[in-house]
Amino acid sequence: MSDYDFDLFIIGGGSGGVRAGRIAAGHGAMVAVAEEYRFGGTCPIRGCIPKKLLVYASRFRDEFEDAEGYGWTLKGTRFDWPTLKANKDREVERLEGVYRRLLEGAGAKCFDTRAALADANTVVLAADGRKVTARTILIATGGHPVKPDVPGAEHAITSNEAFELEELPASVLIVGGGYIAVEFAGIFDGLGVETTLVYRGEKILRGFDEDLRDGLMAEMFKREIDVRVNAEIAAIEKNWSDYTVTLKDGSTLEVECVMFATGRTANTAAMGLEKVGVKLGEHGEVLVDGNSRSSVPNIYAVGDVTDRVNLTPVAIREGHAFADSVFGKKPWAFDHEMIPTAVFSTPEVGTVGLPEHIACQRFPKLDIYRARFRPLKNTLSGRDEFAVLKLLVDGATDKVVGCHMLGPDAAEIVQMAAIALRMGATKADFDATVALHPSIAEEFVTMREKRPAPHPPPPKTPPKKKKGYDETS
Ligand SMILES: Cc1cc2nc3c(=O)[nH]c(=O)nc-3n(C[C@H](O)[C@H](O)[C@H](O)COP(=O)(O)OP(=O)(O)OC[C@H]3O[C@@H](n4cnc5c(N)ncnc54)[C@H](O)[C@@H]3O)c2cc1C
Repeated sequence: MSDYDFDLFIIGGGSGGVRAGRIAAGHGAMVAVAEEYRFGGTCPIRGCIPKKLLVYASRFRDEFEDAEGYGWTLKGTRFDWPTLKANKDREVERLEGVYRRLLEGAGAKCFDTRAALADANTVVLAADGRKVTARTILIATGGHPVKPDVPGAEHAITSNEAFELEELPASVLIVGGGYIAVEFAGIFDGLGVETTLVYRGEKILRGFDEDLRDGLMAEMFKREIDVRVNAEIAAIEKNWSDYTVTLKDGSTLEVECVMFATGRTANTAAMGLEKVGVKLGEHGEVLVDGNSRSSVPNIYAVGDVTDRVNLTPVAIREGHAFADSVFGKKPWAFDHEMIPTAVFSTPEVGTVGLPEHIACQRFPKLDIYRARFRPLKNTLSGRDEFAVLKLLVDGATDKVVGCHMLGPDAAEIVQMAAIALRMGATKADFDATVALHPSIAEEFVTMREKRPAPHPPPPKTPPKKKKGYDETS
């Protein structure tokens, strides 16, 4: 008979927590999971999945426009936000049930409540104040969006609320230059909302390869998204039916909605972590070692709460490695190198390996292969949009160390390229692979010449007023 109520208590039923719980239970552990909001966590409820559904919705506009060049006549296309939202909500609800069933089916006990630590082995359930004990604790509480401290910030929404809007605004100002800001700019623009993006840095998507950053910004301008870089918001004032946003240069904009996508921070407040000796980093993240173990030996943490690489598949792998190692007698650690990732902007970004600015520091002889071209589909449609594909090769070993793409299906293409990079593929391996023709991805196996940067710099001036779009809300 165990001295504890459970072998493992997990706080947070998101991607990392659910995977860890399911695997640990499968190894025979007595597992409990507390979730304060909705099982499944950020990814299926208010992150990756509903975001991608909105991205799909926003891209039909391109399809309708492109169809004409292919002989189609489309009349009376209309967009209805309440229909999209209702359908999206139904799918989210279905997924929430799936995650709960995954845990319960594996034998874990689910508590629908906030939880905090009383001591290193005791969890307090906020719903009824009950205390339960566990030999091992896993913190998998994720993160939440943060708003900058500007007057009127309370009037702005974050991605959380963007998914819940009852009506689509006619205009939106998004603050931020990271992937969530850029993705929502594409979503709103595609759905016909007049979209402005305000970012204090020089270029969007800090940390990504420069060719992707420049290439995407140029395409966003072409789509008449008003991208304002080196710009900062000073205040938001509420009017009768919209908001006046003042920027630090004194200029003002009137918009119906302001959205902050200015970063996320770990959910570690008021959880008793520091009291029991769990060390936190300067942004409140749980500090862990390579096995996701915190400074308290029986307390572990996985996923966004550790602020390592904040992506769903990473949280899942970290949770899986933890459960196998601690409960399955199969110790392994997740390797955070070579993680493929995408930005579901329109056009899309897919990337794996190192960006050029880092690769050139690590590899003194770096070979750069680059292609920029108009995809075949855009010929008949007349769409003025380019794809950028790029390979970075360590000239000393011939290994491909970076693979980057901007263009249609970049996420799908780069996911497959990631297998090759993970296996240590060389440029010669890419060259020896027969092209699949005609495709965009074939360019990755037909790049023969090392080329200089071919694409023009993004335009400096914001575009003129965008054209209207037929919609019902
Ligand atoms: C808008 C958006 C889009 C994204 N798109 C992508 C994408 O395309 N691809 C990708 O890989 N990643 C994406 N992400 C990131 C991804 O969602 C996260 O990396 C992932 O969900 C992290 O999983 P997690 O288990 O660490 O945390 P979460 O999934 O956030 O789960 C943490 C859970 O803990 C609960 N919780 C918090 N505190 C407590 C407490 N004290 N007691 C009980 N429960 C608590 C929360 O309610 C939450 O459900 C996106 C994120 C956002 C916000």
